[in-house]
Amino acid sequence: MTTETTLEAPKADADTAPSAARSPRRSDLVIVYHRQPYEEAIIDGQIVRRENKSPNGIVPTLKSFFGRVDQGSWIAWKEAEDPQNPAFERVVSIEDAFGSYRVSRLPLTAAQVRSFYHVTSKEALWPVLHSFRERYNYDPVDWPTFREVNWAFAEAAAAEASEGAVVWVHDYNLWLVPGYLRQLRPDLRIAFFHHTPFPGPDIFNMLPWREEIVRSLLACNTVGFHIPRYAANFAAVAQSLLDVEIAERIPTPDDFTPSGMALSELKTPVSLAHEGRKIDLSVFPVGVDTGFIEEKAALEETMKQEVSIRSDLGQQRLILAVSRTDYTKGGAELLESYERLLERRPELIGKTRLMLVSVAANRNMTAYREVQEQIEGLTGRINARFARVDWQPVHLMSRPVAFSELIAYYRVADIAWITPLADGLNLVAKEFVSARTDEDGVLVLSEFAGVAVEQPDAVLCNPFSTRSMDAAIDQALDMPQEARRERMRKLRKSVKAHDITAWAKAMQESFAP
Ligand code: UDP
Repeated sequence: MTTETTLEAPKADADTAPSAARSPRRSDLVIVYHRQPYEEAIIDGQIVRRENKSPNGIVPTLKSFFGRVDQGSWIAWKEAEDPQNPAFERVVSIEDAFGSYRVSRLPLTAAQVRSFYHVTSKEALWPVLHSFRERYNYDPVDWPTFREVNWAFAEAAAAEASEGAVVWVHDYNLWLVPGYLRQLRPDLRIAFFHHTPFPGPDIFNMLPWREEIVRSLLACNTVGFHIPRYAANFAAVAQSLLDVEIAERIPTPDDFTPSGMALSELKTPVSLAHEGRKIDLSVFPVGVDTGFIEEKAALEETMKQEVSIRSDLGQQRLILAVSRTDYTKGGAELLESYERLLERRPELIGKTRLMLVSVAANRNMTAYREVQEQIEGLTGRINARFARVDWQPVHLMSRPVAFSELIAYYRVADIAWITPLADGLNLVAKEFVSARTDEDGVLVLSEFAGVAVEQPDAVLCNPFSTRSMDAAIDQALDMPQEARRERMRKLRKSVKAHDITAWAKAMQESFAP
């Protein structure tokens, strides 16, 4: 065995690590999420904490769990020039609409953040999770730093957790936390949720640290995924590396389309056995706050925005695509399909507009810069080829659109065109459907987005086939109103059944001993 596959803990720094002995150890629920649960702004030279701008994100949902316990804690990192002596309080107490909880801020240097998050997580782990072999970049990875940062998160969580508390760890950049935490605090109930896809062994095992990661995940009581396929892939990976049995499999519920789709899985593994322990696998997709979106949709302000968008569009139909700029999101393939559409159906020239919101990611990262440039290049080419004096075929926006404005766009769009090559779930699809209280609009959706198994009534397509991409957009453009309504009603039912409250309930149940 190489040193890369051991579950060895890096050396802790005795001076800065919050030792369990010194800590109040009073929280019954500790959430470990790399970002702080609020936004920090500097106003008049003072740091002010305020609620996250997007109330629809995952952070408010996670915070809502604090309402169920006497005391909760949140562990996140915060940049410090000198982590031994950070210029901020290590732990702060917060009182807000969600209750009172503590936030333990782990001081990390900019170099540590870059290494563990921007390099190891984004350049090596992210492409593997999304099955992009060719994007996997091993060379710049500094695994000792990844371990060190994960160890520090585990220590901070151990210091906050009361006896037998639940510690809930989020996402792959904290993969090693459960294993370290189990060593530090065998009494805890440890849960982990993956917000990304989880690939099968042929892809996952490209990671030299595969066994170390899987051993850490197997130290959990519960490992969570969005859809059955990801849980099945994890079980297959674990079985490929270690003596692991699938202790229980259940027929996949009809809600998650057990057969016939790219991500369908007939059976869902729900528990694994390893070294005399049982590890539960929980499978439930994150949802959106449908009530909140519907309230927003009904606001006069939203209606005014809709009127303004409609008057700008005139007689044109609106195709809307919204995502982060990421090679997994398939922005280039979508633009190429739109170019073919304008070639194939010249009658659409002047009558259709594609609004592509592709929020630029970190431009310092080569992979993202390349995709951004590719999208800008294709947009320029399509606009140059097809534009008329009074008409531009593609509107590209690289800056984020405020969520309230996005809702107005969702409501005006004739088609939401969502065709990622790989996507853990895709909340935009759920938000679009949720905003369509008029029960109209067509969702064109890639079969390779996790959300597709919940939404078989979307117009599904395979983004790896130009023919399938083209047929789907044609079908959406030509769909009669009655068919659109019928599909939208079914989509809305599914989005409601798997909303954020349903996810929270499923998670809560999965923590129970
Ligand atoms: N979003 C936004 N403004 C934008 C683009 C995206 O507020 O201009 C939000 C969108 O509403 C959604 C999230 O960003 O809630 C993207 O989530 P998704 O699951 O679709 O993709 P991810 O970026 O997490 O891979």
